[in-house]
Amino acid sequence: MSNTPLGNIPGRALVTGASSGTGARYAHHLALRGHDLTLVARNVERLETLAAHLRAETGRDVRVLPADLSRADGVQRVAQALREDDTLTLLVNNAGIGAVAPLLQSEPGQMQAMIDLNISALTHLTMAAAPAFVARGGGTIINIASIVGLHPELLNGVYGASKAYVLAYSQSLRHELADKGLRVQAVLPGATGTEFWDLAGRPASELPAAIVMSADDMVRSALAGLDQGEFITIPSLTDP
Ligand code: NAP
Repeated sequence: MSNTPLGNIPGRALVTGASSGTGARYAHHLALRGHDLTLVARNVERLETLAAHLRAETGRDVRVLPADLSRADGVQRVAQALREDDTLTLLVNNAGIGAVAPLLQSEPGQMQAMIDLNISALTHLTMAAAPAFVARGGGTIINIASIVGLHPELLNGVYGASKAYVLAYSQSLRHELADKGLRVQAVLPGATGTEFWDLAGRPASELPAAIVMSADDMVRSALAGLDQGEFITIPSLTDP
């Protein structure tokens, strides 16, 4: 569980990339754990549908904060919420995009967009959340990296490098702020069956089924790692 500076109240969690895939599953599981939620992504309709569903199922207070995190104004809006909403104690930096194309066949603008979202937005949101959480008496930041952060040659190189950054950044953050009440977890999933793969250029249906886990298994495993106090969690496939 996250630190609980608000006594026994779990506090509000802000989840980026909550409109689909693992972000939507994080939202669901965190609401079941008693967190109120702020859901961030670009697709407002999907966010509103999920928010209505979670309110009805869990009774939690669920807000929608639409933002394009590849744009400075979008990042600024979410950073402001992290700084100013005193109930926020948990940030899940989940929004991210990938690619499968080799580096020399990649389009530079697409690589820059990946850096903007996977690295710059995550960095800025963390820099807004970390001091605010410390001032609130504690909090948790979950950064979604990837197993390719350790093996960047497996997919597109900029994608792998962006996830290696997330891991190194998380490690440094933990080193600096663990004794100030900030909990940091880096999650390094393997292949997960989400729209990520369609957008990256290879549908998950083309991967060997035996290596693909569901988004729900991924999130359950990552939260189990969080509960056990892990810094790095590598969610694995569940036994058949
Ligand atoms: P997904 O289903 O495609 O979800 C990506 C989420 O990011 C969506 O909610 C999307 O929402 C949001 N997003 C994309 N661009 C955005 C932008 N510019 N501003 C704000 N939000 C944006 O993929 P996923 O698999 O759940 O990915 C979640 C995380 O897991 C990513 O960081 C990914 O790198 C990581 N990961 C995935 C896998 C895998 O195999 N799937 C493996 C390892 C790590 P909107 O389109 O509505 O904005």
